[in-house]
Amino acid sequence: MSVIKMTDINLSGKRVLIREDLNVPVADGVVTSDARIRAALPTIKAALAANAAVMLVSHLGRPTEGQPEEKFSLRPVADHLSTLLGQNVALIDNWIDGVDVEPGAVVLLENVRFLTGEKACDEALARKMAALCDVFVMDAFGTAHRAQASTYGVAEFAPIACAGPLLARELDALGKAMTNPARPFVAIVGGSKVSTKLTVLDALAGIVDSLIVGGGIANTFIAAAGHNVGKSLHEPDMLDIAINLAAAGEGRADIPLPVDVVVAGEFSADAAPITKSVDAVTDDDLILDIGPETAERFAEILASAGTIIWNGPVGVFEFDAFGDGTKILAEAIADSDAFSVAGGGDTLAAIDKYGVADRISYISTGGGAFLEFVEGKELPAVAMLERRATPETAR
Ligand code: ADP
Ligand code: MG
Repeated sequence: MSVIKMTDINLSGKRVLIREDLNVPVADGVVTSDARIRAALPTIKAALAANAAVMLVSHLGRPTEGQPEEKFSLRPVADHLSTLLGQNVALIDNWIDGVDVEPGAVVLLENVRFLTGEKACDEALARKMAALCDVFVMDAFGTAHRAQASTYGVAEFAPIACAGPLLARELDALGKAMTNPARPFVAIVGGSKVSTKLTVLDALAGIVDSLIVGGGIANTFIAAAGHNVGKSLHEPDMLDIAINLAAAGEGRADIPLPVDVVVAGEFSADAAPITKSVDAVTDDDLILDIGPETAERFAEILASAGTIIWNGPVGVFEFDAFGDGTKILAEAIADSDAFSVAGGGDTLAAIDKYGVADRISYISTGGGAFLEFVEGKELPAVAMLERRATPETAR
């Protein structure tokens, strides 16, 4: 199925409501990381260049619905956006019953999560949002896995609902990785817990050729293989699941386990790193990274990959002494000729830290949505756009 794209529509003189993900970190009223704002810029510029009257809608943080709070205001985003665009972006406070905006101008609507019914996708609220515009543009991939009023409901009732360029590019890139991937297909799933990534591990094990695990997830697999993991972050109640996943079978991914690890006696930035064989971990050890021998083996697997998907650091990379594993894998992905896709909040922080962003084929703006897409789940907001692209009679 396909969706209508913003670039296929004549926006001149039209009222265009664009859902962006402008949920950026703010400290003391100032945006501290503007990656998401910059990602949305080409879409906003394209709509303005087409002479649309542009209304931007986004959430910021997790306010309680019906209780607007200054600390969740999009004011800093409006200011920052004005600077980036070189054009004033007014912040509109009470917007749900009507917005004044002229063609060629852009306004930012105050935090959509201040409105009661946003999260529950209240129909009356969604209809009001839809009534603001001639064209609704869904451009916020990171929220596409949530069926809320501003991501899903509004798309049902707007005269036209289409995908913005950022969302379209994201769907193309992830679709390219997951549909007919060039083989070998290698996935790296790191991070803290098996339990939070169980469904993605399970789905990927049935799709990829090699599934590299790292972080607390790897610790659980190491424990499942019968090794002592000492005080390391791991999940004892996930051992059976890890054993089942690791049992290679017909059409199931190979899950290579670390042969060496970097341990410390305490969880701290200045703990002394000690490299050990995976079978030499003692009761007092904390495994905080994969070892150099393991990193080299994993890097070799990545070097010959055709497609790579990466979510989750393989160690506590926030502490320099335990970041080598993640750094080596990040560089191996950057050096590889494979089509590579990465996503996840901490994964993006690691990509920034090791300066490999421009050598990864596509960096997803979504965390939860990225994982759900990789799992093969339907993203509700995308499903709605597909429905709206189909003639009424065929639905
Ligand atoms: P993402 O946000 O990219 O999806 P996660 O949130 O799942 O990634 O995991 C990232 C976190 O996992 C990081 O804060 C990192 O410090 C932590 N982590 C990685 N390896 C370990 C480990 N061996 N022990 C404890 N925490 C770990
Ligand atoms: Mg995270």
